[in-house]
Amino acid sequence: MTTFADLGLSDDILKAIQDVGYTSPTPVQEKAIPYVLQGRDLLACAQTGTGKTAGFVLPMLEILGAGRARARMPRSLILEPTRELAAQVAENFEIYGKYHKLSMARLTGGEMMDEQIRALDRGVDVLIATPGRMIDLFERGKILLNDIKIFVIDEADRMLDMGFIPDIDRIAGLLPPLKQTLFFSATMPPEIRKLADRFLSNPKTVTVAPPATTSANVTQKFVTLPQNNDWLKREALRMLLKQEGVKNAFIFCNRKKDVALLHKSLVKHGFNAGALHGDMEQSERTATLDKFRRDEIALLVCSDVAARGLDIDAVSHVFNFDVPFHADDYVHRIGRTGRAGLTGTAYTLVTPDDAKCVAAIETLIKKTIDRETIPDLPTVDESTTRHRHRRDDGRRGGRGDGRGPRQGGSRDSNRRHDGNKANVTDRRHETAPHPAPANNAAPARTREEPAAGNDRFDNDLPAFLRRPPAALK
Ligand code: AMP
Repeated sequence: MTTFADLGLSDDILKAIQDVGYTSPTPVQEKAIPYVLQGRDLLACAQTGTGKTAGFVLPMLEILGAGRARARMPRSLILEPTRELAAQVAENFEIYGKYHKLSMARLTGGEMMDEQIRALDRGVDVLIATPGRMIDLFERGKILLNDIKIFVIDEADRMLDMGFIPDIDRIAGLLPPLKQTLFFSATMPPEIRKLADRFLSNPKTVTVAPPATTSANVTQKFVTLPQNNDWLKREALRMLLKQEGVKNAFIFCNRKKDVALLHKSLVKHGFNAGALHGDMEQSERTATLDKFRRDEIALLVCSDVAARGLDIDAVSHVFNFDVPFHADDYVHRIGRTGRAGLTGTAYTLVTPDDAKCVAAIETLIKKTIDRETIPDLPTVDESTTRHRHRRDDGRRGGRGDGRGPRQGGSRDSNRRHDGNKANVTDRRHETAPHPAPANNAAPARTREEPAAGNDRFDNDLPAFLRRPPAALK
C-alpha cells in the first residue's frame, strides 16, 4: 500500500497529516501528488469527497515552502467558485500547513475588502479567491500577479455553470506564461475539456472516478408523487423526514425563493431547520453552516450554488425537494452524504412533470433508481379539506391571541414577486386545489413553540429534528 511518505512529501507535512489521522493517501492524492511535485500541469477529474483538496494543497505546501512572498505579489493562486469552497481550501492550508510559515489570503465577495488588502500588502504565499473579487482587487491595483508560480482552477464545471469562464480567462491572461497550472473538475464534458486545453500545457491526466458516477455509499431513492403540487411535496418531505434514521440532512430546492419558503414551512412545522442560499449575507451563511456542523441545526435547506462542495462528514440524508434541472447537479447534491466512508441515503421527490429531468439523471449516472411511493400520503383533496379546517380555526382566532389569522408570508405574496413566467404558471396549477394557502391558515404558535398539536403529522416529530429552544437560535 502506498504511504504519504512514498509520495515524496517532507517531514513537516507528514507530521501534519499524521496529526489529522490520515493513514494513507486517497486515489486522487496518490496519483496527483507526484505529478504536482514534478512541476507538471494537471488535469484532474475528481469529485469533492475524494480528497482532491489535499491532492493539490499538500504538494503546493511542499513547493511553496522553499520560497518567500513579497508584498502584493502572491506566489500561488487558487480560484474557487464560491466563498464556502474558498473557506474550505483555506482551512486545508491551515491544517496541513501547521508546521510551515506560509501566509495566506482569502479574497471572496461579501466580506470586507480592507482586511483582504492589508493581507495582500503584507505579502502572501497562497491566494484563494473567487473570480469576481479577484478581478475587483486587481482593477484597484492591489495585486500584482507576475510572481504566480502555481495556478489552480478548482471545480471548473461549476465555474462554467456560474458563468465565471470569461473572468477566469481574464485572470489567466494576467498571469506569467511560465507557471504550473492544476485544473480540477468533477465532470469532464466537452466544454470543460476545451477549456482545459486552453489553460494547460502538456498536462498529466488523473481520473479517480468515471465522470458523473455516484458513490456506492449512497442509497438512492426516487419517491414518486401523483401530481406536482407544492403542499403535497412538503407533506411528503415531512413524512420522509420523520422516518427512522434521519439524523441530519441537506434539502435541495431549485430556486432561491423556494429555499426560503420551504425553510419557513419546516420551521413552522417544528423542524430544526436552517437555510442557505446565495442571497444571504456571508456572516449569516457562515453562522448557519457552523450550526449545522455542530448539530445545532439538523436540516439545511439550500440551493445548489450555496451547497456546492460543502465538506461536512456524517450527513445521513440528502433530500431533493425538487429534481434538479441539470443532471450533474444531482450527482453533486447526493455527494453531500455517504462521505468519508460512511453510508447515506438520498431521496428525490419526483412528480409527473419531472420526467425529462429524471431521464437525464438516469442517463448520466447510467443507473435506474428504485421508485417508491409513500403509502399514507394524503391526496390533495384531503389536504384541501385539511386547509379548510385550518382556515376555519383561523377565522375563530387561530393565532390564539385574539388577533385572528396570521398575516403575511403567504404563497400569494411570494408569487407577486416572481418574475419567472413558467413558474407562475406552474404555481397556479399547483395551488388550484387549495382554496387557502397553508401558511396563512396554519394554527397559531409563538416562535419557540413546537408545531401545533392539531396537525396530524406534527405530533410524532422525533426530538432531534425538533426546533431547539430560542437559546440555540
Ligand atoms: P475533498 O474531496 O477534498 O473535499 O475531501 C473530502 C474529505 O476527505 C475531507 O473531509 C478530508 O478531510 C478527507 N480526506 C482527505 N484526504 C484524506 C485521506 N488521505 N484519508 C482520509 N480522509 C481524507
